[in-house]
Amino acid sequence: MASRRENRCKHCTLLGLALLWLPARAEWIERVQDGIMGTRVQVELWAEQRADGEAAIEAVLAEMRRIDREMSTYKPTSEVSQVNALAAQRPLQISPELYGLLQTAHEYSQLTDGAFDITYASVGYLYDFRRRVRPDERQIEAALPGVNFRHVLLDPQARTVHFARAGVRIDLGGIGKGHAVDRSIELLQRRGIRHALVTAGGDSRIIGDRFGQPWVIGIRHPDRKDQVIARIPLADAAISTSGDYERYFDEGGARYHHIINPRTGHSASKVRSATIIGPTATRTDGLSKTAFVLGPQRALEIYNRIEDIDAVLVTPEGEVLYTKGLEPPGEKQ
Ligand code: ADP
Ligand code: MG
Repeated sequence: MASRRENRCKHCTLLGLALLWLPARAEWIERVQDGIMGTRVQVELWAEQRADGEAAIEAVLAEMRRIDREMSTYKPTSEVSQVNALAAQRPLQISPELYGLLQTAHEYSQLTDGAFDITYASVGYLYDFRRRVRPDERQIEAALPGVNFRHVLLDPQARTVHFARAGVRIDLGGIGKGHAVDRSIELLQRRGIRHALVTAGGDSRIIGDRFGQPWVIGIRHPDRKDQVIARIPLADAAISTSGDYERYFDEGGARYHHIINPRTGHSASKVRSATIIGPTATRTDGLSKTAFVLGPQRALEIYNRIEDIDAVLVTPEGEVLYTKGLEPPGEKQ
């Protein structure tokens, strides 16, 4: 379902005649679209000409649909599904885009002691959070040898991917939306857009400011949807939040949710939410789920070492922790 909000002057009908001589009619245009990549996509931008802005938004939505078609593991015809079906048998040549993402995924696995791992899917596919389905211990034990980012062998010369053993599956759900947001921002920049916000689910990226002010992105309370625990002013940056309240079910006092610890095959619950701020949405998306696996202390150690990112974590006790670059004034060491 699409909805639009236009920030146009209420008095413009009266003033219309007087303004007719203006060469262009610059406007904020916003579009909200559900159902792409299984989530809500939002685009907001400033365009000199309304028609150019609308066309730019259409191009963004088409790009997101293309990425969904090629990367979704729910679509048997996607390139990623083909890799999962065949790459254990032989090296498969893949598109430069997918190859680049697999290299990026490998980099994030190395940065995070393996907490980020696209082969989580070797066990992750056994969960269905909407239908409250989870694997039992025996199934997890049988699938777990397939989980290890080192099983994904990449050959840059031949541009191939090969799985080191049978039973390996990959899923780019941990960086796909960030990647789609980055591609969308690049597309808008090529069209000359200088002020925009693109959001897909929990991943956003911003170019420029909004009416001369930074954009303000709220981080929600893990249990109270309408309560904001922090507001982050941003310009020319990306931000991603992962939470255990996004896709989950509760059973016997435990929460089963969509971020998986690659070592155990169980949901990773060492934080309730993690927000990463950085230069690109692929990076912030990839790193946002790793705090759930690493736990707040180890995650902050790692995030503080990565030059171009900052983070806000909410612990299971409700404590809010920040990386060095974000600590409130007076708390800096
Ligand atoms: P969203 O899917 O709304 O963007 P997140 O950014 O928090 O939410 O990503 C969660 C997704 O990350 C999961 O649905 C799954 O596809 C993927 N994922 C889960 N665990 C891991 C992991 N350990 N490493 C990499 N990706 C993961
Ligand atoms: Mg995401």
